[in-house]
Amino acid sequence: MLGRNSQEPTANHGRRNTAVKAGSTFRLTVSFMVVVVVAFLAVESWRTWRDYRSVFASARDSATNLARATAQHAEDTIRQVDVLTAGLAERVEGDGLQNLDVARIHKLLVQQSKIMPQLHGLFIYGPDGHWIVTDKEVTPEMANNADRDYFQYHRTHDDRQVRIGRVVESRSTHDLIIPISRRLNNPDGSFAGVLLGTVKVSYFVDYYGDFRIDDKGALVLAMRDGTILVRRPFIASVVGKSLANSEIFKTYLPSSNEGIAQIRAVVDGTERLYGYRALTTYPLVVEAGLSKDSITAPWRRDLLKNGFVLIFLILVLACFGLIVLNQLRQRMAMEREIRSAHQAMRDMALTDSLTGLGNRRRLDTALADEIRLARRQNSPLSLIMLDVDHFKRYNDHYGHAAGDDCLSAVGRAIQQAIKRPGDLAVRYGGEEFTVLLPNTNNAGAIQVAEDILQAIRLLELEHTGHPLGYVTASAGIATRRPVDESVTMAMLLKSADMCLYQAKRLGRNRWCSTD
Ligand code: GH3
Ligand code: MG
Ligand code: MG
Repeated sequence: MLGRNSQEPTANHGRRNTAVKAGSTFRLTVSFMVVVVVAFLAVESWRTWRDYRSVFASARDSATNLARATAQHAEDTIRQVDVLTAGLAERVEGDGLQNLDVARIHKLLVQQSKIMPQLHGLFIYGPDGHWIVTDKEVTPEMANNADRDYFQYHRTHDDRQVRIGRVVESRSTHDLIIPISRRLNNPDGSFAGVLLGTVKVSYFVDYYGDFRIDDKGALVLAMRDGTILVRRPFIASVVGKSLANSEIFKTYLPSSNEGIAQIRAVVDGTERLYGYRALTTYPLVVEAGLSKDSITAPWRRDLLKNGFVLIFLILVLACFGLIVLNQLRQRMAMEREIRSAHQAMRDMALTDSLTGLGNRRRLDTALADEIRLARRQNSPLSLIMLDVDHFKRYNDHYGHAAGDDCLSAVGRAIQQAIKRPGDLAVRYGGEEFTVLLPNTNNAGAIQVAEDILQAIRLLELEHTGHPLGYVTASAGIATRRPVDESVTMAMLLKSADMCLYQAKRLGRNRWCSTD
């Protein structure tokens, strides 16, 4: 290493700069990878979330459409029976139940029920519940329906609308049927009997079966009080059960006649997205539910697939990143080595091997820099040139090797005599030394020169060829304020050299200055 000098800070700075650059490249690469991974994750999460929402949005549409279709179907089915029975009632009441032309009405009933596929049967009961006429070929002799729910209702209520009853098992065919009944009146308004149209539960089951919904999906037709009439998947034991305590009946229906609800089913505990709808003309409700599992199944499959792809990508990226970082680290280490080797070479090229001081090349660069700096800062710059007195004689007397030792000692003395970090001492050549003193005026330079000469004297190196008997040196001092271009390196050196010559001429062991 070089001693104190003005060049070193610049060199160090450069070195630090390169190190900082390499370090920041490293950090940049790591940050880049982190950013890429985070971006990947963010995009993928956003996409997944969006897909999840869109899956549910389309499921909502499906459930709503399904509820609408089944509601419409139920309404149409019931209305046809409503219209039919209204016409029949009008006719039967007009004729009077006592004067009924049973054969003719039977024919009419057979005809009508043939047209309507949903119909299981058409029945007319007298005021005591016995069968008067049906669409069936044979009427059981003793058949009496006075115990039926709908019969008792109409006997005690005089409203004229159709009444939709709970599912019952047919006495004639043992099919499950939905009774749709209306009261028949005598001309005086008293109870004359009941007109009943029965709708096959299987008609709805078949219709619901045609929809393509998932295995866990459900379609329900229920009465407004929650009693189940039909359900897909169809389980006979569920028919007649009440949904009154389900959330849709308890919470949703009271506030809106149609809508969407994501709830767990009362009947089978499956979580579904339900479209529900209350019919406008009849006290019926339909529910169309798609199971959450099957709604999200494709999405979950996608998630799994994308998850794997993402993990794979991140792993690839991580591997790639590690390789890049490793190479970067190796390159950085190599650069460090090259830099320090380079620096060592530079140091060597600028160092005088005998004294360890800088050499003339070192002075040349430093001097050029300092002149520029002094010019910028308008500061004085001093240069001291030193030459050992009668050194030829020293060599001649003590030998060249001893001469070298002497020069080495003088070099050390000079180095120790200069104090400021910016001062630079070099061996200019042979037994000549130069000291560069930036930002130092003439008085300061004289002081330093005196200190140096004194330090050399104090070495008390024996020199028999010298009139004083010990080693001394002479110094020439030049001080300039290089404000203008006229001050050059050569001029400064020459000026100091002339002063040195002057000092020699005046008897050596002294300094001489331009000022
Ligand atoms: P003066 O007082 O006028 O300077 O007398 P001087 O003898 O020193 O004269 P001059 O400068 O001409 O002599 C330089 C001598 O220094 C010549 C050479 O013998 C000796 N010298 C130059 N370089 C070296 C060196 O590297 N090692 C040694 N040992 N001697 C050197
Ligand atoms: Mg000389
Ligand atoms: Mg000399």
